[in-house]
Amino acid sequence: MNHFDAIVIGSGAGGGVMAYRLAQMGLRVLVAERGRYEDPTQFEHDELAMIPRIYKHGGLQTTADNDVAIMQGCTVGGSTVINNAIWLRANLDTVLPAWKAAGAELDRAEIEAAYAQLEQLLHVTPIRPYDPSNPLNEASSGAKTFLDGAAALGMEATMLHHNRKACIGCGWCNYGCRYNRKLSMLVTTIPWAEQFGAYVLDKCQNLTIRWKKESDGKLRAEGIGFTRHGTFHTATADRIVVSAGAIGSSALLLGSGITANGQVGKRFHALGGVLVAAQMPYVADGFDGIGLTTVLDSDPGIVIESFFAPPGAFSITLPGWFATHIERMEQYRYFAQAGVMVPTPPNGTITLDKKGNTKINLKFERDRIGLMKRGIRTLADLYFAAGAVAVFPGTFRHLDLYHPNDFERLDRLVQGPDDLTLGSAHPQGGNTISRDPAAGAVNEQFCVHGFRNLFVADASLFPANIVANCQATVMALSWIAANHVAKT
Ligand SMILES: Cc1cc2nc3c(=O)[nH]c(=O)nc-3n(C[C@H](O)[C@H](O)[C@H](O)COP(=O)(O)OP(=O)(O)OC[C@H]3O[C@@H](n4cnc5c(N)ncnc54)[C@H](O)[C@@H]3O)c2cc1C
Ligand code: SF4
Repeated sequence: MNHFDAIVIGSGAGGGVMAYRLAQMGLRVLVAERGRYEDPTQFEHDELAMIPRIYKHGGLQTTADNDVAIMQGCTVGGSTVINNAIWLRANLDTVLPAWKAAGAELDRAEIEAAYAQLEQLLHVTPIRPYDPSNPLNEASSGAKTFLDGAAALGMEATMLHHNRKACIGCGWCNYGCRYNRKLSMLVTTIPWAEQFGAYVLDKCQNLTIRWKKESDGKLRAEGIGFTRHGTFHTATADRIVVSAGAIGSSALLLGSGITANGQVGKRFHALGGVLVAAQMPYVADGFDGIGLTTVLDSDPGIVIESFFAPPGAFSITLPGWFATHIERMEQYRYFAQAGVMVPTPPNGTITLDKKGNTKINLKFERDRIGLMKRGIRTLADLYFAAGAVAVFPGTFRHLDLYHPNDFERLDRLVQGPDDLTLGSAHPQGGNTISRDPAAGAVNEQFCVHGFRNLFVADASLFPANIVANCQATVMALSWIAANHVAKT
């Protein structure tokens, strides 16, 4: 009974879509997930309770040098349970040529068709603009501040699309939606896969992939071994799909002795940056509504999006020490906030140390910091144009901006990654696609080079940064990958 047509490891954006598609095609599927299978109605509006419950490493995952915090989910549904449900198609005009240069020539029409099918299934619609006279707003007032500031500068800013239905704008998306209004994998593709007969096993610890070399030299994945509630289990399958996310999938492959000729764990990259808070002269109550709602059309290499978080997460990103920090937090209701994100080149690595612990090697080099400073200036300009009394970029040293003339201090005080509180929710790469086995871990059919039946379907596939929020493109690639997996 422990033999399946397919085992999918991980149940986030990639794994959730893969499990649903394979089960729908009639395959007997096992989903093996490290995190817990949560009942969403039991999610609490309590940051300290939820972060250890559904975030990877309790929200404390960082790069090896501790410069960058990297957020990911660890629960059935993966990062889609904690994400902001922003649905952004990648700009295929720029992304596909960059991927092609890396040896990954993917069919544009197929990706667009996958986006369209998913948008239908996940109820993707534009977020409604904030209206001060409407007590049933989805968006927080920060959306209006952001749009007003952009308009005052003559810049274009737009409301984003999202995969929510009948959202009541409670603002707790990053801790799981207890009202099932965010259409994460936990409440869509995973239960849909179960309806088609898939088995979902949570709390699978210390999972490894078992594989062998066949007489013709090709490799075959045979099954998995893992510990659950202290007992060791195994399961076998005709095909295995690794969807443990960027970082997790490379670590899992390496921990299973699978290197794809040294390509696993290479070309890791991220879209990340810094948050900027703006103190407004009025009560903004930015927490009251969806936090991430608007995007600025500025430099093509910089992503600037409005954001707001409940008080715990907000306090971590708000600069200032001791009494200064307390005084600022007392003004919590007066703040608007937004993020500046820039892409890193695909030159990071995921490795395992001697004890088997994952090491994330990723740097925001000087040119990336320069780009970030340009984004911070744009954002500060935007908030001053909207009437902000002060702007606080996420720096370690005091850098309170009260006027655009203060920008000289930004240039002086921010020189490198140590000067900013850097974070990323969009890690990518590590098992990148390339038809050349010397330039990527996975071929254009999503199969690990050298293997017959071991596939990857998650953000680790991206050969170059998509410079956009990742979930839509992860899901679209997984949708396409499922066709290759099924016909193996
Ligand atoms: C706070 C936050 C906000 C975000 N907001 C947005 C947004 O608004 N829009 C957007 O487009 N993107 C957003 N993202 C990013 C987006 O959610 C991710 O890019 C996407 O979910 C990645 O999909 P994935 O399948 O690669 O990985 P994940 O969704 O992270 O899923 C990986 C799964 O694998 C499991 N796993 C890992 N290792 C193992 C193992 N060894 N054994 C078994 N299971 C394992 C994990 O527990 C996890 O459930 C956000 C991310 C975060 C963290
Ligand atoms: S803002 Fe909407 S989607 Fe987010 S947690 Fe609240 S009800 Fe759910």
